Amino acid sequence: AEANIGVTGLAVMGRNLARNLARHGHTVALHNRTEGRTRDLVERYGDEGTFVPTYSAEEFVAALARPRKLVVMVKAGQPTDAVIEEFAPLLEPGDMIVDAGNAHFADTRRREQALREKGLHFVGTGVSGGEEGALHGPSIMPGGSAEAYAALGPILTDIAATVDGTPCCTHIGPDGAGHFVKMVHNGIEYADMQLIAEAYDLLRHASGLSPAEIAEVFRGWNSGRLNSYLIEITAEVLAHTDAATGQPFVDVVADRAEQKGTGRWTVQTALDLGIPVTGIAEATFARSLSGDAALRDAARGLPGPARTPIEGGADFAADIERALYASKVVAYAQGFNQIQAGAKEYGWPIDLGAVATIWRGGCIIRAGFLDDIRAAYAADPALPTLLTDAGFAAAVRDAQDSWRSVVATAVRLGIPVPGFSSALAYYDGLRAERLPAALVQGQRDYFGAHTYQRVDRPGTFHTEWATREQAETEV
Ligand code: NDP
Repeated sequence: AEANIGVTGLAVMGRNLARNLARHGHTVALHNRTEGRTRDLVERYGDEGTFVPTYSAEEFVAALARPRKLVVMVKAGQPTDAVIEEFAPLLEPGDMIVDAGNAHFADTRRREQALREKGLHFVGTGVSGGEEGALHGPSIMPGGSAEAYAALGPILTDIAATVDGTPCCTHIGPDGAGHFVKMVHNGIEYADMQLIAEAYDLLRHASGLSPAEIAEVFRGWNSGRLNSYLIEITAEVLAHTDAATGQPFVDVVADRAEQKGTGRWTVQTALDLGIPVTGIAEATFARSLSGDAALRDAARGLPGPARTPIEGGADFAADIERALYASKVVAYAQGFNQIQAGAKEYGWPIDLGAVATIWRGGCIIRAGFLDDIRAAYAADPALPTLLTDAGFAAAVRDAQDSWRSVVATAVRLGIPVPGFSSALAYYDGLRAERLPAALVQGQRDYFGAHTYQRVDRPGTFHTEWATREQAETEV
C-alpha cells in the first residue's frame, strides 16, 4: 500500500482530477474499467507527479494506504452502482468511497446507507468546473459523515480553487447533501445561462446590435457587477467568427439547446419541496422548447409583431443590464431557498453562506456576485430570501423601472423572455399586499368544499354555495 488516494474512472474529469491530485504531491493510484485510459494517462502525464497505475480492482485496492480513499469518477447512474458493487467487497471498515460524479442525491442517500451498514464511508461529492476546473481547481461540495470529511477535507481543499485564500470546498452535510447542493448549482447555472441568452436576444432584436457589438456590451458588463465566468465566455462566443462561412459563430449553430438532466432534477425536486424555482424551471423548459423541432416547424408561421429595433436601442443596453441583474438576484434567491428547504426536509445542517463562499471560484457560476450572497448570509444566516437582504433589495429597487420596461418591450416586440418575465412575476408576487389566491380559495371551496380561512377571525370556514343566503358555517 503506497498511494494515499486513488481515482477510478479516467475519462476527462477523472483524468484531470487525478493529475490535479498528483500535482499537489499526492501519490495517486489509477484505475479504469478499460486499461487504455490508465496507460494513456501515465504515458502522457506520468511526469507530473507520482502515479500508481493498476489494472484490476484487486490491484487498485491493494495499492491504497488504509483507511483507503477511492475517488469514483464514472458515468453517473448505473455505472456508479456497478463500480460500488465491484469495489465494496474488497474494502474494509473505515475505507471511503468518494463519488465525484453527478449523481442524483436520492441515489447518494441510498448508497450511503447501504455502505454505512458495511462500515464503509460513502462521500457523495459535487464537483463543478468542467474539465479545466478538475485540473486547475474545481469547486468541491462533499457530503457524507464528518468523520470521512476529517480525513478527506485536507486533500480536497488542496486541489480545490481558492478565492482570497479561502478554498472552494467545505463539508456540506451528511449523505446526499453534497450532491443536492451540486444539483441546485447546476439548476442555477441553467437559469443564469438562460437569462444571459435573453439579454443577448434583446440586444440583438430590440437594440438592433450585431453579435460583435453585443460581445463588446458583455465585455463592458463583465467589468461591472455582473462580472462572472458565464458573462466572460458569452463575450468570447459572440465575438467568434465561423471559419468555414465567415458568419458570426452564433448564427451557424443550430438553435436547439441540449441538457443532461441536472436542471430537470432540480425542478422535479423543487416541485416535491414546494419551492418555486421559476428561473430554473423556465430555463429548463426553454431548452425543451428549443429542442422540439417538429413542434417549432408546425408553429413557425403563427402571427406576431415585427421585431423592429426600438429608438435609442444602444441606450437600452443599460436597461437590459439592470433587468439581467434583477432577474439573476431572483434566480439565485430561489435556488438558495431550495437548498434551505432541502436541508430542512432531509435534516442537513447546510450553511448557505458557506455554499456561496465555495461557489465564488472553480465552478461554472463563479462570480463576484457570490461574494455578495456570502455577505448577505453572514449578516443574517436566517435571511428568508436574498431579496430582503438590504443590499440586494436596494439594487433590485434601483433596477426595477428598467426591468419592467425591458419586459414590456420584449412583450411588445414578441421576443420571448421567460426568464426575465417570470423573475419579475415572482418578485411582484412575493411583495404583493394581497394575492388573487383568495379567489382561488373561493373557487376551491365552491367546487370541492375545500374550505378557507378568513382575514378577520381565526377558524376554518365553508360556504353553502347552493343556498348562498345561508352564510358560511365554521367547520
Ligand atoms: P463520462 O461521464 O463520459 O464517463 C466515462 C467514464 O465512466 C469512463 O471512465 C468509463 O470507463 C466509465 N464507465 C462507464 N460505465 C462504466 C461501468 N459500467 N463500469 C465502470 N466504469 C464505467 O466521463 P466524464 O469524465 O465526462 O464525467 C465523469 C463524471 O463526472 C460523470 O458522473 C459526470 O456527470 C461528472 N461531471 C462531469 C463534468 C464535465 O464537465 N464533463 C462536470 C462535473 C461532473 P471506460 O473508459 O471503460 O468506458
